[in-house]
Amino acid sequence: PRPIEQLTTALRETAEERKKVKVKDAVVHWFKMDLRLKDNRALWEANETAQAAGVPLICIYLVSPEDFEAHLTAPVRVDFMIRTLHILKKDLTALDIPLYVETVEKRKEIPDRLIEFMEEWGASHLFANIEYEVDELRREAKMVRTCASRGLAMELFHDSCVVPPGALSSGSGKQYAVYTPWYRTWVAHIHENPELLTTFEPPSKNPPGARDKVAALFDCDIPDTPENKRLSKDDAKRFHALWPAGEHEAADRLDKFCEEKIGQYSKRRNFPAQAGTSSISVHLAAGTLSARTAIRIARDRNKTKKLDAGQEGIQTWISEVAWRDFYKHVLVNWPYVCMNKPFKPEYSNIEWSYNASHFTAWCEGRTGFPIVDAAMRQLRSMGYMHNRCRMVVASFLSKDLLIDWRMGERFFMENLIDGDFASNNGGWGFSASVGVDPQPYFRIFNPLLQSEKFDPEGEYIRKWVPELGDIKGKAIHDPYGRGAAAQAKKAGYPKPIVDHKESRDRALSAYKAGIGRD
Ligand code: FAD
Repeated sequence: PRPIEQLTTALRETAEERKKVKVKDAVVHWFKMDLRLKDNRALWEANETAQAAGVPLICIYLVSPEDFEAHLTAPVRVDFMIRTLHILKKDLTALDIPLYVETVEKRKEIPDRLIEFMEEWGASHLFANIEYEVDELRREAKMVRTCASRGLAMELFHDSCVVPPGALSSGSGKQYAVYTPWYRTWVAHIHENPELLTTFEPPSKNPPGARDKVAALFDCDIPDTPENKRLSKDDAKRFHALWPAGEHEAADRLDKFCEEKIGQYSKRRNFPAQAGTSSISVHLAAGTLSARTAIRIARDRNKTKKLDAGQEGIQTWISEVAWRDFYKHVLVNWPYVCMNKPFKPEYSNIEWSYNASHFTAWCEGRTGFPIVDAAMRQLRSMGYMHNRCRMVVASFLSKDLLIDWRMGERFFMENLIDGDFASNNGGWGFSASVGVDPQPYFRIFNPLLQSEKFDPEGEYIRKWVPELGDIKGKAIHDPYGRGAAAQAKKAGYPKPIVDHKESRDRALSAYKAGIGRD
C-alpha cells in the first residue's frame, strides 16, 4: 500500500481506541512545517480538546540535524525556521502556552521521544498536521498504532494543502496527471465545499492554573542552528535582512502583495527584474502562512468572490498557488517520484553527461550565458530564484548541458529558502521533461531568447552579473556573440561553455534514444 494508505488505515483501525482515550493532564501539539498559530488546523483541534477538558496545551518542536541532512534542507532554510521558533515561542508564551524545543540527534528517535515526553507530562493526546513525504507518512502511520497500543491518542489532520490529496479524481476515478483538468476540478471542489477555506482561530490562553502545571517547560531555550547547517556571519546578516521570519511577516507580505501587486500579477510575473510576484513561497514552505489563508485573502479581493472569474491578476495568482497543491497530490499518489525516479519510467534511460566542470560552472553562475549566470547567482545570494529563471536554469542544465536533472534538483534543495520537495521535484520534472505534465522534451528553451524576452533591458543580468554592468544594449544577453567580447573578457566573464544549437541537437538525440530504449 502507498504510504498515505498506510496512514489512513492506521487511523481507521485505531479510531475506536482513540475515541476512548480520556484527556488526562495535558494535550500536546507537535509543530513540524506548520510554524504558525493562525489558521493551523491541528493546533486548533489540540486547543479545543485542551480547553474542553480544562488542561494545559503544550507545544513541542524537535530539531533533528539528521533529518535536515536527509531532506537536504538548506542552511538558510534551517536558520529561517529557528528564527521563526523564537517568534512562535514569544507568541505562545503570551498565551501561557509553552513551546518546548529539543534537539534529537537521530531522526529515528523522534517517535519514542514524543511518546516519552507525553508520558512525562501526563499527556493523553498528540496532535499534528500531516506531512506528505514518504518517510513522514510511514513514520506517522506507525506512531498512530504505537500510541494506541499505549493508551494514547495521536490525531493527524490535513492542513498543508487547500484540498487534501486524494480528494480529487478524474472521470475514470484516478489521480489527474495533467494540471489543467485537475485545476478545474480543484476550483469546482472548493466552490462546492467553501468550508475548505475556513480559517482556524489561533489557540486561546491556557486555562487558569494550567500555566503553573507546565511552568518548567517555559524555561527551555531554543537550540542554536545545528552545526551542520550553520550560516556564516555575513550570510546570516544578509538573509536576516532579506527574509524576516515568522507568521506576522508572512501576513504583512501577503497583504502588501494583494494591496499593491496582485492586480498586475499576470502581466508582470514573468519578468525577473520586476518584483511582480508575492515572494511568499518561503512562508508557505515553512508553514508560517497557510495556503488556505493565502487563497482566501486573494479571493476575497476579487469582486466575484470566485477563484476562476473576475480580476485576471487574482485568478492567475490563485492558479499558481494551486500548483503547490497539485504537486503534493502527485507526490502522495505516485510516491516513487520521491525516490529519485522520473514520473515516466521511459525517461530513466536517458544517458546523461556527468561533466563535473560544466556542473560546477552552472552552480557557480559561470556558464557564459548571462541569464543563467544571473539566476544562479541570485539563488546563491538570496536563497531564492525567480520562477521564470528556475525554468531557464533547469532546462539549461538538463538539456543544454545534458546533466542529470536530479543533480540540479538536489542543488536547489541545498540552497533554496523555500525548498519544498514536491514543488521542487515537480518544477524539475516539468523543465527536464521527465515529470508529470511536463514541457515536451523537444521544446528546449533557448537561453538567449528567454533572456531577450523576459529581461529585455538586461536589468536582472546587470544586477546579478555586475561585471557585465557596462555592456550596453542587446549585447548584454550574449556579450561574446554580439560584439562585446573584449569588454566581457576584460571583465573576466567566461565564454559560453557550450554552443546552444549543438547542445540542443545533442539533447534531442539523447532524449529520443533514451525514450526509445527498453
Ligand atoms: P508567486 O508567483 O507569487 O506564487 C505564489 C505561490 O504559488 C508560491 O509562493 C508557491 O507556493 C506557489 N507556486 C507558484 N508557482 C509554482 C510552481 N510552479 N510550482 C509549485 N508552486 C508554485 N517552489 C517552492 O515553493 N519550492 C521549491 O523548492 C520550488 N522549486 C522549484 C524548482 C523549479 C525547477 C521550478 C521551475 C519551480 C520551483 N518552484 C518551487 C516553484 C516556483 O518557482 C516558486 O514557488 C516561486 O518562484 C516562488 O516565488 P513567489 O512566492 O514569489 O511566487
